[in-house]
Amino acid sequence: MSAESAPPEPEFPLPDTNWEMTREFWAAAAREELVIPRCDGCDRWNWYPSEQCPGCGETNLPWTAVSGRGTLFSWAVVRRAFVKPFAEKVPYVTGLVALNEDPAVRLVAGIVDCRPDQLRVDLPLRVVFRPLSFPGVSREVVAPMFAPAV
Ligand SMILES: [Zn+2]
Repeated sequence: MSAESAPPEPEFPLPDTNWEMTREFWAAAAREELVIPRCDGCDRWNWYPSEQCPGCGETNLPWTAVSGRGTLFSWAVVRRAFVKPFAEKVPYVTGLVALNEDPAVRLVAGIVDCRPDQLRVDLPLRVVFRPLSFPGVSREVVAPMFAPAV
C-alpha cells in the first residue's frame, strides 16, 4: 500500500478499522451491510474472526452477508462512563446479540432505539447502522447496532 492511500490511524475510542482481522467487517458496515466469516469447508459461521475454522480447520472463510436479524441474549446498561469520551453517551446499552443464522454466533453491539426497561431476553432485533462519534475526534466510524425489530 502506498503512503498516499494509507488509511487513517485509529483515533481513540474509535475501533481500528484497518486491522486485517476485522477490516472487512467495518468496510461492510460503511456500506450498511452486516458480514460474518463463513467457512467454505463446513458452512459454519465463525465469530470472532479467526484464521482457521474451529470446526474443520479450513482457512478459507469468506465474509458473508447475514440478514441482520437476531435476538437479545444478554445486555448491560452502562450508566457511568469509565473513559471520558463516553461521558456524553450514558446511559447506553451494550448487548450480546444472537444472530438468526446461528444463535451460537453472538455479537457485542450497541442496543439503540429502545428504553432499557423494554429490554428482555430473546427480544427480536434488527441491525441498524449508526456513526460512532466522540467529542474531539474528527473522524466517525459507521458501526452495526441493533434496535427492536418491528
Ligand atoms: Zn469449517
